[in-house]
Amino acid sequence: MASSDIETALHAARALILADLTARDVAEAEVVSMVEKAVTHRRWWLEQWPDGAEFVLGLLAQDVQDALLEAYGRWPLCTACAAEGDPHALSVEPELGSEPHWACGKNATVVAPVGRLT
Ligand SMILES: [Zn+2]
Repeated sequence: MASSDIETALHAARALILADLTARDVAEAEVVSMVEKAVTHRRWWLEQWPDGAEFVLGLLAQDVQDALLEAYGRWPLCTACAAEGDPHALSVEPELGSEPHWACGKNATVVAPVGRLT
């Protein structure tokens, strides 16, 4: 894979993650730098495994989710379950696949594609 293809995949994934962060009100400066750090790591990873480009969005979403858990808390919350008093984080499904979605593990429902949270 050419390095320009890697950059295209990373740029698209970064934009989608930032859209989700904005939709769920955590696109603060330190969170954005957390995303940049995850992108930098995945750039290295893609250089080792160029065939991984289709997985990079789902993996980046999980990287950012993990980083937020330590620094900020659970993200993104499942709004349906939170309304019933049982807040939990959505999970990325599939963990390693193309076209990743945010899903509620409790009700086994798909909430939105990654990048399309509202
Ligand atoms: Zn839920």
